[in-house]
Amino acid sequence: MRPDILNPLFAPATGLPGIGAKTADLLERLLPLPDGVEPRVIDLLLLPPSGFIDRRNRPTISGAVPGSLATIEITVDKHQPAPRNSRAPYRVLCHDETGSLTLVFFHARDDYIQRALPVGETRYVSGTVEAWGDMLQMVHPDRIVDAEGLAKLPPVEPIYPLTAGLKRATVVRAVEAALEQLPELPEWQSRGVMDKMQWPAFGEALSRLHNPHVPEDAAAEGLAWRRIAYDELLAGQLALMMVRRKTLKTAGVARVGTGEKVQQILGALPFGLTGAQERSFAEIGDDLAGTERMVRLLQGDVGSGKTVVALLAMAQVAEAGQQSALMAPTEILARQHFATLSAFAGAAGLRVALLTGKDKQSERRAVREGLANGEIDIAVGTHALFQQDVAFNALGLVVVDEQHRFGVHQRLALSAKGDRPDFLVMSATPIPRTLLLTLYGDMDVSRLDEKPPGRQPIATRALPDDRIDDVIAAIGRAIEAGNRVYWVCPLVAESEQVDAAAAEERFASLSQVFPGKVALVHGRQDQNAKQAALSGFQSGETPVLVATTVVEVGVDVPEATVMVIEHAERFGLAQLHQLRGRVGRSDRASSCLLLYKPPLGETARARLEVMRETEDGFRIAEEDLKLRGGGDVLGTRQSGMPGFRLAQPSIHLDMLEMARDDARLIMETDPDLTGERGDALRALLYLFDRDHAVRLLASG
Ligand code: ADP
Ligand code: MG
Repeated sequence: MRPDILNPLFAPATGLPGIGAKTADLLERLLPLPDGVEPRVIDLLLLPPSGFIDRRNRPTISGAVPGSLATIEITVDKHQPAPRNSRAPYRVLCHDETGSLTLVFFHARDDYIQRALPVGETRYVSGTVEAWGDMLQMVHPDRIVDAEGLAKLPPVEPIYPLTAGLKRATVVRAVEAALEQLPELPEWQSRGVMDKMQWPAFGEALSRLHNPHVPEDAAAEGLAWRRIAYDELLAGQLALMMVRRKTLKTAGVARVGTGEKVQQILGALPFGLTGAQERSFAEIGDDLAGTERMVRLLQGDVGSGKTVVALLAMAQVAEAGQQSALMAPTEILARQHFATLSAFAGAAGLRVALLTGKDKQSERRAVREGLANGEIDIAVGTHALFQQDVAFNALGLVVVDEQHRFGVHQRLALSAKGDRPDFLVMSATPIPRTLLLTLYGDMDVSRLDEKPPGRQPIATRALPDDRIDDVIAAIGRAIEAGNRVYWVCPLVAESEQVDAAAAEERFASLSQVFPGKVALVHGRQDQNAKQAALSGFQSGETPVLVATTVVEVGVDVPEATVMVIEHAERFGLAQLHQLRGRVGRSDRASSCLLLYKPPLGETARARLEVMRETEDGFRIAEEDLKLRGGGDVLGTRQSGMPGFRLAQPSIHLDMLEMARDDARLIMETDPDLTGERGDALRALLYLFDRDHAVRLLASG
């Protein structure tokens, strides 16, 4: 089905030079790949640079600004090798007519340095210039070349977001090779748009992005990136409209309840619904009972009570004699939902089952049978729920808990498991209105904008990391009082391995202070170890839980009252907000301690400030969008729009309207994508992993 011309781009990335299984593994962590997909050639092409190195700054030595990247012409004067058995570096003294510069090498091979920098010769060194006392130095120049080499030096080089263990040179080489695989592709953008925007062709745009001649080429604001971002936005809008037209505009099934089971559950809840929950369930209940198919987003902060609302919806579906499925992005979260639902479903005689990828054969068989013969009313699970061998007797409602994944386009296409089931998507991310459309198309929205009663505000403080002893004292008091404490460890390198190491270290040091009271959970543990750590925390046996960001995803422990976030300056606002939402889930007073390493950058300071000021998720989301602005060009960019690779909220949203109009026009003129441009658009949908929409075309 995929146009043959695209095959080289969908070959595994391991076929590229320098990419072995291990590197592919690292890439997989770096890339936002669809479930079960290994890195492919296209993924490298669509890997956005996180910035660029501009080697065109060519000052004299005296004109070089400490802290900046410079390429300097020098004459080599003298080598000062490191004395044996000393930790001193190898130094090379150099000069030009304006001053002197010392090149500094730690643990480098002497013969390499001597060959690269012969005494008396002229060389060009490129790297970051630093002041060292009143001397100027360059530690480990990234480039040392002669005049000939200088002519070949790329003026601007892209840098990529790297996970630990992944070298820039490896990525550069692989991207280079990937570019060679790029076939001549038909233009899918309309002539009108191309003329108006003056964009380069897709291939040309990719090549400029990865081989920039001027910084603009590798910048999100530049023409090359904008073109690809627009391609991505168009693919997204088009896919949403195609899915909507093919599966959702179809008539639905009226799932009218008797009210009996819903009442039983309401009666069993140890609390009354909030106004927002009542309103949301009323909206959902009407949709379910109506003959049009429901496609609704239930938005609400962590702890706002979404799961309970979903359960009521499921109860209504059960009253109508049908089944419901709840799909969660991770196994931990699936288990959590299973526990919450099971606690109250029994009151209405509803049977709940859990299905994940890791169940025993026999368990799995039993669940499959129960689903097929209708004995099970509610299935909770990961995407294992939608595997081939799972059949439902009468699936009437699919609930997808998105957390931060945003695979909604894909999930919506999964209607085959039931008879035109209704769809409810739950999202804990307070998505600003401007982004809703991009991510969800024109879905209906219910908002839980009210916290359950009795919840106290979370006292939030930002502290420099030299106050860690105060924090540890506060933890002591909290566990003394019978409360629980989360300690979230820094996101070091977007690499689970490195993050896990940091967490292990913190676990060890806290265990010394609170022996036997600390548990550890991180992404590298197996399922049993994770589960054991969480159970110990839940039961209170180990009231302190040291974790990497895995706890971000849905752990509900009402006794938890303290959230410590280490290196808070490294987290994005949305993430900080989600993490903080893990406490303040009961009527006990809670606090959130944001430990940071000074000095704080401007954006990081602003983020922590917002956290101290407000707990309102929607406000935080708006601020987040503002703060992410294009400014941070040389630093690592914060990841852009969820579900998108190159399109970034604050930079490319101006083109969203245009993409929507364009997609509408396509749907009006060639909805089945049959014409010449239709073919090109199919290629576009594949390139951005929106091919589920193309598959719907074929299924008619
Ligand atoms: P979410 O899924 O939005 O994170 P949950 O549905 O898991 O939230 O609810 C979080 C916690 O709050 C659960 O322990 C739940 O039992 C409780 N809860 C839900 N609704 C209410 C309410 N109206 N009053 C009090 N507690 C509630
Ligand atoms: Mg929940």
